Amino acid sequence: MVEGPVCPECGAILCRDKFESMLALEFQYPMVFGAVHHVTVICYNLQHPAAFSEEALAWMRSTLRAIIEEGLTPSELRKWSQKNFRGHVKVLRKVPDKPRSSEWSMTMADVHIDDPETYVNDVMEWAKSILQDIR
Ligand SMILES: [Zn+2]
Repeated sequence: MVEGPVCPECGAILCRDKFESMLALEFQYPMVFGAVHHVTVICYNLQHPAAFSEEALAWMRSTLRAIIEEGLTPSELRKWSQKNFRGHVKVLRKVPDKPRSSEWSMTMADVHIDDPETYVNDVMEWAKSILQDIR
């Protein structure tokens, strides 16, 4: 069991450290990076929404849905966001919101990082659970 401070936003322990370990694994395996890096980043942000504008959060929600439910690929994603947003989204709030604790059915704490294949599956499960939780 990992010990440390519980994150007020996602509810996982030492989530920033976990996020960094996940990114390290992605950089170590280019296949894994290509498969889930965009998903990892969006999921992390959606479970830490305090700093983001409503507009940016709405964009992340619909993007995650397009990736998981319609199989949007990273290169399609790039074209799709250029066409739909052209960089006009104001990403951050002027003043970050107070952290709102949410009940997430799955957090980064549930993602296993010991094996690249399991990792890819876990990240996809994590993304699906977030889509369920925010529905
Ligand atoms: Zn957190």
